Amino acid sequence: MKKILVSLHDVTPVMFDRSKALVSLIMQRAGANFTMLVVPDFHNAGRIDRFPDFCSWLRELDSAGVEIAQHGLYHLGDSGRFSLEGRLLTEGEGEFLQLAAAEAEARISEGYRIMSDVLGKPPSGFTAPAWMYSTGTREALKQFPFKWIENRWSIEFSDGDRYTVPAVVFASRTPWKRLCSRFWAAAGPAVFSGGRVFRLALHVKDLPALQKPVERALSSSTRHRTCVRCVDLVLN
Ligand SMILES: [Zn+2]
Repeated sequence: MKKILVSLHDVTPVMFDRSKALVSLIMQRAGANFTMLVVPDFHNAGRIDRFPDFCSWLRELDSAGVEIAQHGLYHLGDSGRFSLEGRLLTEGEGEFLQLAAAEAEARISEGYRIMSDVLGKPPSGFTAPAWMYSTGTREALKQFPFKWIENRWSIEFSDGDRYTVPAVVFASRTPWKRLCSRFWAAAGPAVFSGGRVFRLALHVKDLPALQKPVERALSSSTRHRTCVRCVDLVLN
């Protein structure tokens, strides 16, 4: 059976209403079979453990079976240190693009501790903001028992298996990206119809601008595919 992995990026109490709205859209199609990437302290202004309603909501989703993973710490890089490529690709949010191992380890560790305290268990996997990892970040991640690490084109599991899983990405920050996202909403599921697994990567900021394209993509891509979480790729 062909599979679709829906992953929701940038979940944070700073955008709690949008996070809830997008989760309920996804759950209409995928039930609890999707992966949610939570930012432990979005832009250093959204530490999740300071928002009790958000924490309760996260724990409810976890109990329902939604997979909850760690998405960086601040989701904000030091853009002064970025190369031109880094600035273009990440819009200043490539938090782990240029970190040395010690700094990467400190940030991952802080986010890991915050999320583990809130959930009562460790986050399942790790995705760096904008899927961008420095060599030091790669090194630092070896210290943590994440079940998987997600890249732009693949997902690596702790047992060494690596799955190539193409992703349809939505992004709403610029008119050009919104146009591309509309294209992918229509064409993505067809383009990847032959693949065994593909990812639909949604972002909390996709709402409200891309609500209709997101609904269409969810509807068409889940019609003939089984919805899975990241962790299910290695279990099945
Ligand atoms: Zn992100």
